[in-house]
Amino acid sequence: MDEVQHHEGVQRVLELGRAGNPDGLVELEELLQKPSPEIRRLAASAIGKLAADGADAERAVKLLIPVALKDRHPQVQQYAIKSLGIYGAGAAQVLRDLEDLVKTPHPKTYVCKTAGAAATRIREALAYQEEQKENRCSKCNRLVDFDEYTRSTGHFQRIYCDHCYDETCVRRRNWETKVEDKKNLKTVEGVLVQSKGEKQIAECLEANGLVYRYDDRLRIIEGFQIRPDFYIPALDVYIEYWGMDTPRYKAGMYVKQDLYMHNGKKLVSLYPKDLPELAKIITEKLQALGWRALANGESQC
Ligand SMILES: [Zn+2]
Repeated sequence: MDEVQHHEGVQRVLELGRAGNPDGLVELEELLQKPSPEIRRLAASAIGKLAADGADAERAVKLLIPVALKDRHPQVQQYAIKSLGIYGAGAAQVLRDLEDLVKTPHPKTYVCKTAGAAATRIREALAYQEEQKENRCSKCNRLVDFDEYTRSTGHFQRIYCDHCYDETCVRRRNWETKVEDKKNLKTVEGVLVQSKGEKQIAECLEANGLVYRYDDRLRIIEGFQIRPDFYIPALDVYIEYWGMDTPRYKAGMYVKQDLYMHNGKKLVSLYPKDLPELAKIITEKLQALGWRALANGESQC
């Protein structure tokens, strides 16, 4: 190859790299066989650049592998390895060989280093792909894309496709409205609650100077949404009033009680049968959890 030919080859390969046309692979395959190491190096580099332009990964990787593993010229090898890394998961088949390259002593340490970096990149791309595979809508099991994933997990801590997300939002809103509608009993301190039992409990806490949050925002425990009736921040204690007696309600109650327990949350459970002696029972249960009653030791409600 004379100097003019060499110069033309270099110019052509640079052009192909810059052009961003994935069809350039055909010509680059030929240039990758040239005797000039400079042309081969630039061709390997250009094939890597075309990854971003949508070049056929399978074909590109197939061209790069022999160069990356066997080219006599370490710099050509290095550029082919770098380009393989750019193809990420598309170059999975060469991962093992790259890892071997890292471990095998090479006269040029930069070859091993580059192989290490490329292998890392391929492994990360594979891991990301694997992760994406798991991202399915928790309701309809459809694969969700990245936007759907961030939208739903940002709001619900659960993965939803856009369709199920919207549905869940509407349902949640309706439910919130229904709950708010049911709060029509006012405690001494003016908090609106849902039932006589809750009113009595709230007023007992108020009489004892215990600051509480009623029907606080949903708390997530082990992926379940818990909406505690009362939460007393000073004691870090939750109070649930289990007001119904149907089998279904009770089943839900046991699940929730287990969740509190397994997560080390302090829970005081109160039932309708406790209401006649509420002051005494609340006092005892809260004292067992570290509460010191007012000065006279008597509960005030
Ligand atoms: Zn869905």
